Formats: sequence, structure tokens, C-alpha cells
Amino acid sequence: MSKIAIIGGGIIGVATAYELAKLGEDVILFEKNYFGSGSTFRCATGIRAQFTDEANVRLMKYSVKRWEGLEEELEAEIGFTQSGYLFLATSEEEIETFKANIKLQNRFGVQTRLIDMDEAKEIVPILNTEPFLAGAWNPKDGKANPFKTLFAYLRKARELGIDAREHTEVVGLEREGDAITAVKFRSNGKVEGVKVDAVLNASNAWAPRINEMASLKHNLVPITPCKHQLVKTEPLERGQAEPLVCPPSWDDAYIIQDGEDGGIICGAGIEHKAKSLDDYEPTYDFLKGALRYAVKIAPPIRYAHIVRQWAGFYAKTPDSNPAIGKLLDNFYIAAGFSGHGFMMAPAVAQAMAELISRGRSKVPLDWEWYDPYRFERGELRSSAFQIG
Ligand SMILES: Cc1cc2nc3c(=O)[nH]c(=O)nc-3n(C[C@H](O)[C@H](O)[C@H](O)COP(=O)(O)OP(=O)(O)OC[C@H]3O[C@@H](n4cnc5c(N)ncnc54)[C@H](O)[C@@H]3O)c2cc1C
Repeated sequence: MSKIAIIGGGIIGVATAYELAKLGEDVILFEKNYFGSGSTFRCATGIRAQFTDEANVRLMKYSVKRWEGLEEELEAEIGFTQSGYLFLATSEEEIETFKANIKLQNRFGVQTRLIDMDEAKEIVPILNTEPFLAGAWNPKDGKANPFKTLFAYLRKARELGIDAREHTEVVGLEREGDAITAVKFRSNGKVEGVKVDAVLNASNAWAPRINEMASLKHNLVPITPCKHQLVKTEPLERGQAEPLVCPPSWDDAYIIQDGEDGGIICGAGIEHKAKSLDDYEPTYDFLKGALRYAVKIAPPIRYAHIVRQWAGFYAKTPDSNPAIGKLLDNFYIAAGFSGHGFMMAPAVAQAMAELISRGRSKVPLDWEWYDPYRFERGELRSSAFQIG
């Protein structure tokens, strides 16, 4: 049994702690704030296998399979529903792009298909069909409750014996040669240390700071915190917009009906580089822009009251794909998720735990694609489609 430290108590850190505990490892999990307080509790709940490259499609096909069995495995209700994702085309050219994406997804067993606007209207009764020509529809995509999911993983991980510490910030790493030997952490103003056999950097937007603590270059894995916001309406009658609906050519604008209370969550790729890693201030520009798109997608949203607006970080790498893999002999990273870290968590956590504990994994994760050293080599991947 090895002592493994995980830095970051978002969905990636917590799910990996659970997977490592399942493999019999001795896990200590550090979260500087409260669990989920980073991007995880701010996410739009979406889960999709509709990506535009082989690596992400294959990973998400596997992740969706894990999502399907998660309630049973974690013995908890997590609000997982396969309510689908509907991408909408506004031009003939975009239809051709959709067709190419669908062909790729179908090749790996993801059952996306092109649908006409009559069918789209049946799926999303409040949809304004007029601006759109066709849709890419995968009924197996879906959504889940990030709060319930994280706490379900955490509860199970604790049952398996992990030591999970909130309000405990990692402040330093001790390195000997190419190995991390100890983690220093601060809790209640007191700094302590623990000897470790391996460390996972799961701190997402904060990951470059942790890499520096390991005496690696801050920009070895370049991650920019980008402010991504959401606005939510009062509850609408269920079934009005259950899938995530997105016309990508409209600044990646999207709507999705919250699986819990039926409010409509509205997002858009109207992003700014965050001023700092504490910059959670929602902006009026976003509110205006996102709602302008939302009422064009589904006009009845015009009559719903807005109940909430919030901001979080997309932790963006230069190609919008995460960095997943080994940085030193016993120092690993799974960070740099923009709009897809929640949906990928079941697969990434399993892969990472198996890599750390067993040296290899059964998960179809293309390690070369996500290689954290690719940026240093100047090898960018095709940009991953970002939104939730
Ligand atoms: C508005 C919005 C909508 C989104 N919608 C979706 C969606 O629909 N679907 C989807 O899949 N994804 C979505 N995402 C992205 C998703 O939320 C993230 O990719 C995912 O939550 C990343 O999880 P994580 O565990 O890697 O990071 P985080 O949840 O950010 O966790 C990292 C944690 O590390 C902690 N930490 C940092 N430094 C230290 C330290 N020194 N010591 C201890 N702890 C530390 C932080 O406090 C933080 O809690 C969305 C994101 C936003 C902002």
C-alpha cells in the first residue's frame, strides 16, 4: 500500500481518491477551501460524448458508460439523466461539419444522428426552429448534479478509508531528484508535513502553482483561468428544454433545464481572462449577451425571472485539452479542464488511479494525446470543443 497525496478537492481529485481507495491505496486528499468550491460546483451539469476528435470521443464514450453505472456503484442518487445534447446548425456549411463529426462519433459507437427541425421541436418544445437548419442529436448524452455526485464519491471514498481534509492548503512539496518525497500543508494557521510515495496535482486552474512547488516551470503546463459564467431562470415546467441545446455558431451559447428544479441554465462562450484566481465577479455584459442568445433559442425564456448568476473558471490550455499523465517519477497531473472536467471525471479518475497504482490502465485514454509535456514540445492537439 502506497501513501498517495491528491491536491485539489474538485470532482477530479475526489473521484480519483475514491478510485485509488478501491485499489487499496492509502490516500490523503487536500482541499484549500471546501470540497467542490473550485469549478466543480459552478458547472452547467452537462455530460456529452459529442466531441470532434477521436481521443475525446473515445474517452467520453467510456465515461458515459461509467456514469450509467455510478448511482448503483456509489449507492447514491446523483441526478444522472440521459436527456441528450442537441447542437443546432445555422448554415449549410455547418451541416457538413456536423455530418463529419457524426461520422467520427458513430465510428466509435456514439449514436449521434442528424435530425430535422420538426424532430428537434418534439425534443425541445420551447425551441425557436426558425433560425436553424438541422440538429446533431445524441440521446445518450445527459446531465448530473455536481453537488450530489461529488458528495457521493466523497462518502464512498471515506468509507474506504481515505483521509480527506478541507480548508487545508498545500504550500510546498519536497523533491529529491525526480521524486516528490513529502507534502507540506497549512491548516488552522499551522504548517505540517507528510511523507508520500506519489502525488497527483488535481488543482485545475491552480495547477501551475503546484507544478512550481515541484520545481517545475510555471508554464510547463500552461493553464489560463478564463471566467465562464451562467445565469439561471426560475423553474419552468419540466420537459421544456431537458437536453443541452447549443448553436455553436452563436458564441457557443447554450441552454439546459436544471435536472433538479427545472430552472433554465443559460451559458455562452463570452469569456474573459480572469483578473486573478479570486475573480468570481459576474458581469452585466455576460448577463445581457447570454440572455439575448437564450431568448433567440427559446423565446419563452423572455418571460421567466432570473434567479441567479455566477462565475467560475474554465482552466484553459492552449489546445483546450487537459493535461493528464506523469510529470516526474511519482508526480502526476490531471488538470486544465475547460468545459468538460465534470463529464470526464469518472473515466479520468479511473485511468489516473490505475496509472498511479498499477502503472497502466484499462481505460481507453490516449495518454499521448493528453501528454502534459506536449506544450513544451510545441505539439498542440486539435482544439477540444469546450462548452459543457
Ligand atoms: C460556468 C461553468 C460551466 C461548466 N459547465 C460544465 C459542464 O456542463 N460539464 C462539464 O463537464 N464541465 C463543465 N464545466 C467545467 C467543470 O466545472 C470543470 O472542468 C471541473 O469541475 C474541473 O474539476 P477539477 O476537480 O479538475 O477542478 P476544480 O473543481 O476547480 O477543483 C480544483 C480544486 O483545487 C483546489 N486547490 C487549488 N490549490 C490548492 C492547494 N494549494 N491546496 C489544496 N487545494 C487546492 C481548489 O480550491 C479547487 O477546489 C463548467 C465550468 C464552469 C466554470
